[in-house]
Amino acid sequence: MKIGLLGEKLGHSYSPQIHSLLGDYSYELTEVGKEELDAFMRDFPFDAMNVTIPYKKDVIPYMSQLSDRAKKIGSVNTVIKRPDGTLYGDNTDYYGFSYMLRKAGISAKGKKVIIIGAGGASATAQAVVTDEGARESVVISKQTNTPEVLALHADAEILINTTPVGMYPNNGESPVDLDIFPALIGVADVIYNPAETALMLAAEKRGIPCAGGLSMLVAQAKLASEIFTGGSIADTEIERIADILTKQMRNIVLIGMPGCGKTTVGTALSKLTGRRFVDCDEEIVKREGRTIPEIFAEEGEDGFRRIESEVTADIAKESGLIIATGGGVVTRERNYDLLHQNGIIVCLKRNLSELATEGRPLSQSRDLHEMEKERAPMYARFADITVDVHDSTETAKVIMEAVL
Ligand code: NAP
Repeated sequence: MKIGLLGEKLGHSYSPQIHSLLGDYSYELTEVGKEELDAFMRDFPFDAMNVTIPYKKDVIPYMSQLSDRAKKIGSVNTVIKRPDGTLYGDNTDYYGFSYMLRKAGISAKGKKVIIIGAGGASATAQAVVTDEGARESVVISKQTNTPEVLALHADAEILINTTPVGMYPNNGESPVDLDIFPALIGVADVIYNPAETALMLAAEKRGIPCAGGLSMLVAQAKLASEIFTGGSIADTEIERIADILTKQMRNIVLIGMPGCGKTTVGTALSKLTGRRFVDCDEEIVKREGRTIPEIFAEEGEDGFRRIESEVTADIAKESGLIIATGGGVVTRERNYDLLHQNGIIVCLKRNLSELATEGRPLSQSRDLHEMEKERAPMYARFADITVDVHDSTETAKVIMEAVL
C-alpha cells in the first residue's frame, strides 16, 4: 500500500516514525503547496493518506463520502482511496483527543469547559466534550482572548488549549494565565513539542491534572493505521509508542555542584547514546566571547545568572540532547521550567573533596561545605533522580539505564 501524510510543511513530523512502529507499510511525507493541491487531490497518487495543517478542511470537496465524525467536526485527517478510485474522508483526531483526556483522567461530563482557540483542533475538542456531556463549553478565539472575557468564565473547571501558543520554537508562552480560573480540575494542551508547555507547567505547579498532546498524536495515528490496514491494534501500543517518543525527545539534563563531573559524565553519555552533548558553560563562553571568571568580574553573579538563563532557555527547548548545566543553575527557580519542559533532570553527587575548582569563581571564593548546604534543597527540588559519581563511564551507564 502506498500511504503518506499530506501537508504544506512537514519538516518536524513524528508521523513516519509512529507509523513505522504501528504497521508494516511505508509512510511518505508529501509536501504540497496550496496552488498544487487541486491537481494533487484529483490525481491522488496514494492508496491512503493522513492530512494535516492546513488542508484538513480543503480536502473535503474531493471526498465522495465522509464518516459521521468527519462530518461532525468538519475536517478530514484520513483519506482512503476506494477500489473504484473515489475518496472516503475520515477523522481520527476525535478518537485521539478523547483518548488523551481519558488517559489523564479528565472527564468533561457535567463540567464547564473553556476551549482556547477556534480552529481545527478546537472543533475536535468541542465535539468530544459535547459528546461527553459537558455542562457548558465556551470557545475563546484570538479576538476574545482578553482578561475581561476570560474573567466571565472564571468558573471553568476544565481548560483546553487548542492554539499553537507555546509550541516550539515559542516555548514558554502561554495562551492564558491560570490564576484567572481557580475552579480548574483539569488542563489539556494539544501541543506535543515541548513535552510540557508553559500552560502544563503552570497546571502542574497548582496540582491540577494535565495532559499533553503526544498521546493524542499517537492515538489518532493508531486509529488511522487500523483504517489503512483494516487490522486491529491494542491500545497498549499507544502507550508503548508514546513512551519510545518521549524518551527519544527528552533531554537528559545534568545538574550538581560545580566540578562534580557533569561535563565528563555528559561526554560519556553522549558517546554511549550517540546524542549531541551541550555544555551550558561552554555555550555561554562562546556566545559572550568572555570567560566565566571575566563575566563574573564584569557583571557580578546576577549578570552571569541572567545570561545563564537566556542560554539555558535556548538550549533546553531543543530535544534529545545531553545537557550539562552550570552548578548554580538551580539558584534561579525560573530555570526549573526551562530544564523540565523537555527534560529529565539528573543530579550528580560527588564527595566534596573530589570536586574540581579550577576556573570556577564561586568554588574558589566560597566554602564548598557552606555552598553545598545552601544548595542541597535546590538540587533536590530540581532533580528527578540523583546518581553518585565515581567513574564517569559507569555513571553514564547507570543514567542511561535509568532514563532511556
Ligand atoms: P488552526 O486551525 O490554525 O487553529 C489555531 C487557532 O488558535 C486559530 O483559531 C487561531 O486564531 C487561534 N489562536 C492563535 N493564538 C491564539 C491566542 N493567543 N488566543 C486564542 N486563540 C488563538 O490550527 P489547528 O489545526 O487547530 O492546530 C492548533 C495546534 O494544535 C497546533 O499546535 C497543532 O500542532 C496542534 N494539534 C495537535 C494535534 C495532536 O495530535 N496532538 C492534532 C491537531 C493539532 P487565528 O486563526 O485568528 O490565528
